[in-house]
Amino acid sequence: MKKHNFNAGPSILPQEVIKKTAEAVLDFDGDGLSILEISHRAKNFQPVVDEAVALFKELLNIPDNYSVIFLGGGASLQFCMVPFNFLETKAAYLNTGVWAKKAMKEAKGFGDVIEVASSADANYTFIPKDYTIPADADYFHITTNNTIYGTELLQDIDSPVPVIADMSSDIFSRPIDVTKYGMIYGGAQKNLAPAGVTFIIVRNDLLGKVSRHIPTMLNYQTHIDNGSMFNTPPVLPIFTALQTLRWIKANGGVAEMEKRNIAKAELLYNAIDNSKMFVGTANKEDRSRMNICFVMKEEYKHLEADFMKFATEKGMVGIKGHRSVGGFRASTYNALPIESVQALVDCMAEFEKQNA
Ligand SMILES: *Cc1c(COP(=O)(O)O)cnc(C)c1O
Repeated sequence: MKKHNFNAGPSILPQEVIKKTAEAVLDFDGDGLSILEISHRAKNFQPVVDEAVALFKELLNIPDNYSVIFLGGGASLQFCMVPFNFLETKAAYLNTGVWAKKAMKEAKGFGDVIEVASSADANYTFIPKDYTIPADADYFHITTNNTIYGTELLQDIDSPVPVIADMSSDIFSRPIDVTKYGMIYGGAQKNLAPAGVTFIIVRNDLLGKVSRHIPTMLNYQTHIDNGSMFNTPPVLPIFTALQTLRWIKANGGVAEMEKRNIAKAELLYNAIDNSKMFVGTANKEDRSRMNICFVMKEEYKHLEADFMKFATEKGMVGIKGHRSVGGFRASTYNALPIESVQALVDCMAEFEKQNA
């Protein structure tokens, strides 16, 4: 049976990308060695990093005064690396979910943290809009897509201070104006690669301004100066990321990704909104195109486990909602074909017909 992969992360990758990775595991670059057993300093690996950086710049239209680097440690390490490198006195944070909160918690060890707004009281079902960013903050941190709650900030915001964005789960899902950001980072395992690599896009002139000592490994400048090769980088995830970047380019770039993502999200949200049984959890105007969260209406709540079983039997994978929201979550990342969304919509309709 065909599986429809709605996993939230690690998550679906294009079939072609998985195939290319599998081939490289057996024989990288036709030289008889596996990608798993070559040196990161091998002559034929440097072009992989170079092309990945070049495609980041090309696909996202990143200006020359920014650097792109690949690190380990996940997005979670960035929660402390960001304040380590940028927080001198105070930083502003928008609290839109668990990841934002974790980022704030780490920053508190480095200076004053101003929470400009929060939707915690409403279980993060919306993105706050009325707030003022303090003009004397060192930076303003946002989470553009709240993977757990299914809300997304789709506009590049104007800010008097550099914006630092966690884009772990919506990078490459739509065009962005990089010039509006001081830094963008994310774990690659949602929309780009297997787990193990973190991407950083940073405006060079913002670095080197804090007075504290920064340990070598935690200093962005170290990794910029060494082209992501200060120590051994995650070789395989970088290789796979490159295959995904090539796939995005070959499929029309981020503008085309956005078009497809809008179509997929509309298909599923329309089904939810027209359903007697299911209801979306996120505020409509803040709905994410990447993670679509829904539950059963009060009168059908007792059927959630039955639907889970029904959908699983029909090949749906990874649709269980995060424990803090409950119900269901369908992640519709770039690599997910619209056919899979249609299969889920059909499955929901069939279940409703049988049970409502
Ligand atoms: C998954 C996720 C993280 C955590 O990523 P790790 O790489 O596991 O540390 C952080 N922020 C967002 C928005 C996420 O979706």
